[in-house]
This record gives sequence, C-alpha cells and structure tokens, in this order.
Amino acid sequence: MEWQAKIQRLYHTLLLTLGQCDLCGNNLNSNNLGSKSIPSQTLICSCCFTDLSLFKQEIIQGDLLNWPAVNKALPNIHFDHLFCLAPYLAPFTQWLPQFKYQGRFELASLFANLLAQQWLQQYLIKPASSTVLMLSVPLHSSKWQVRGYNQAHLIAKRFAHYLQLPYDNKALIRIKKNNSQVGQTGSQRRSNLGNAFILAKAFPNDIKHIILVDDVLTTGSTASEISKLLKQAGVEKVTVVAVCLTLPSS
Ligand SMILES: [Zn+2]
Repeated sequence: MEWQAKIQRLYHTLLLTLGQCDLCGNNLNSNNLGSKSIPSQTLICSCCFTDLSLFKQEIIQGDLLNWPAVNKALPNIHFDHLFCLAPYLAPFTQWLPQFKYQGRFELASLFANLLAQQWLQQYLIKPASSTVLMLSVPLHSSKWQVRGYNQAHLIAKRFAHYLQLPYDNKALIRIKKNNSQVGQTGSQRRSNLGNAFILAKAFPNDIKHIILVDDVLTTGSTASEISKLLKQAGVEKVTVVAVCLTLPSS
C-alpha cells in the first residue's frame, strides 16, 4: 500500500473511532437516524445518508434492465435481472477504490447493508432460499495474493447474511488472468473473458436461481460470462447485484 493510501486509511479509521461522519465529519452521535445497530448509520450522518443518490428502485421495479438506456447499453447479456444500489458517482467513486485498494473493510458492511435495505424494501418476499444460492465474482488467484482479499466476496458474505440466503464463495473459480479492463470496449472485454471462469463442482439440482454479487458493473461482460456458464450448468435465472453501475454515456 502506498503511503498516501496508508494516511487515507488512518484518517478514516480516526473518523470512525471519533464517531464522525465519513463524508462531512459531523458527530454521528448527535445526528444519527435513530439506531446505532445498522452499519450505514455508524459511518455516515443522516444528512449525508439522505443525500446519497441511490437508484429509485420503485420506478424500475427493482430491475435496472427495465430502464431502456441501461438495457440498450448492455446488449447480449446472459443475466436476467440487475439490481444495483447507486450510479457510480460520488461518494461511491471515492468509497469503492478505498475499499478495493486501501482495505477499508468497514465499507463492505455499509454497502451490503444499503443493498439489503433497498432489496428488502423492493422485494418484501424473499426468494425461496432452497432454490437460491448467492455467489460472488471471483478474482484470479494471483490477483487475490497481491490484494489479499476479494472485495466482491466481502460484500456478498454480508449481503447474504442480511438476506439470510446461502452463500458459496468456492463454487466459481477464475482460471484466466486478465489485465485491467479499464479503457476496453465491451467486445474487447468479452473476447478477453472467454472461458475465464469454471465451476468448482456441479450445483445441487434444486438450485435454480443464482444471485451473483460484484462491486461495480460497467459493461456487464464479466457478469454475463459467468451467467452464461451458470445457465449451461442448469441454472434458470441469474440476478446480478452490484454496489454501483457505471451509467451509460448518452
Ligand atoms: Zn455527514
């Protein structure tokens, strides 16, 4: 970790220790949302919470594929349902890199908690858990060794806990190391990702619906490649859950 990242990490740890809002620095104890048990309310104050620009799930019926611009920007995808918390804008453009590269693990609880709140508001009835399994997008082992953790796994583990759904972090394996996808087009990403993932074992027959968790969805190529593999293995429905969606440029 670079020294700047270490200083950033220390700064945020200090804010957390002092009970101050991660975004504005206000005291959380005098300005919270009424409960100290929910992680989203132990990191940010009620004003910053209200200011978060989250997707309005009720308008899109909890599925971003219902939004024509998003649907058009994600052609030929193999997943059936897309649930994201927010567009990839501030403060998520600071939070996600801090989480991914600076080890701010407390953000995993914030993301998972916000996702779960939105999910439960939208889907009052939980999916039948005997047919649903949650997975996360795996890292290649070499990347995992360098980073030391898989950010998607840390979110998925907590999200599954909040929704009380089974989660398997060993079912999917990434066998192909790919370079950074930044700057690549959708078709370049798709060709790089061909056969990048395998299943460690067959799913039990009763698993029909997979909820696949990632941190950010940009072109959807990774999630789609995995969904294709899951469908080939007999899964009927794939829901992709990500903290953020990079909005298509108009
Ligand atoms: Zn605040």
